[in-house]
Amino acid sequence: MRAWILDRQAPVDEKPLRYVDDYPIPSVGEGDLLIRITHTGLCRTDLHILEGDLPLHKKPVILGHQIVGYVAETSGNSPYNVGDRVGLTWLYGSCGRCKYCLGGEENYCPSIVRTGWDVDGGYAEYVLAKEDFVIDLRDLEYKDSDLAPLMCPGVTGYLGFKLSRVEPGDKLGIIGYGPTAHYIMRICEALSIDVYVSTRSPHHQEMAWKDGAVWVGNILEEDFPIELDAVISFPPIGHHTKKVLKSIKPGGTLVFSQIEAYTDIHIDSYSAVLWGRRIETVYNVRRNIANELVNLAKRVDLSIDEEVIDFRDIMDYLVKIRRGHVDKITVVAKI
Ligand SMILES: [Zn+2]
Ligand SMILES: [Zn+2]
Repeated sequence: MRAWILDRQAPVDEKPLRYVDDYPIPSVGEGDLLIRITHTGLCRTDLHILEGDLPLHKKPVILGHQIVGYVAETSGNSPYNVGDRVGLTWLYGSCGRCKYCLGGEENYCPSIVRTGWDVDGGYAEYVLAKEDFVIDLRDLEYKDSDLAPLMCPGVTGYLGFKLSRVEPGDKLGIIGYGPTAHYIMRICEALSIDVYVSTRSPHHQEMAWKDGAVWVGNILEEDFPIELDAVISFPPIGHHTKKVLKSIKPGGTLVFSQIEAYTDIHIDSYSAVLWGRRIETVYNVRRNIANELVNLAKRVDLSIDEEVIDFRDIMDYLVKIRRGHVDKITVVAKI
């Protein structure tokens, strides 16, 4: 099958992904589904693996974990039939026996398996998946290309939203603006939650206004105009933490939705800054969140303005994403 493979990590400008057209199609084992992929979204996490911020767990590996496709083969007695539309997220599998798995928090499972990192992912024509871990997309009336980003920015956004504990009538801050923030905006709009967005890029500021923010600014230069119930922060930094916590009411939550902090988190006054506030982190994703989001997508418009690119252009577009040279909010490859 056609695939983009990674066997050597390097700066994205060196274009380390290799295109091959003879990668073996995986064979189906007990409980597996073979998925013929139609669309895979491009994610910044792929850049973190490609460039070495995250170690290689498999060599070569096929990146990509925002996957939508159709069941091509089952292992027999399966809840899915050939031709059913399914999605695959970053969560490829987990042990099913530990306290986290049994408690519905499999994102913390010590034996978690992640798509496009621990096992091959979606920058290919086919991917193997566990039938218990795919997301059922049969009842959704969305284009395939709209659903691919729902599988990562959508699900991580919804997990961050849930961790923030905001409720209708609350005020939520968002720092950094990308596809994940876009989904949180859609959800907040449906639930009458006012959103205050901080982002440096004028292009992203414009997107945030268009998505319905009540305030858009840049908290590196100014303060949020009001005390907030929670803040969700995306940029891979930590030095803004003290300032952000100060803008959150006691009882409120700061959610870090990032996988790296290139600057230190420094809190020098417990009583003035941290006391009474919660800090949460988005750590992997889980099925109950994904399934709840799919249900929400039946009554709330969770489409996104994606740029659909050709499969052959994946490597070039990862470079563009790194340089911020993409106009639309997210990029999806048509396989
Ligand atoms: Zn992702
Ligand atoms: Zn487990």
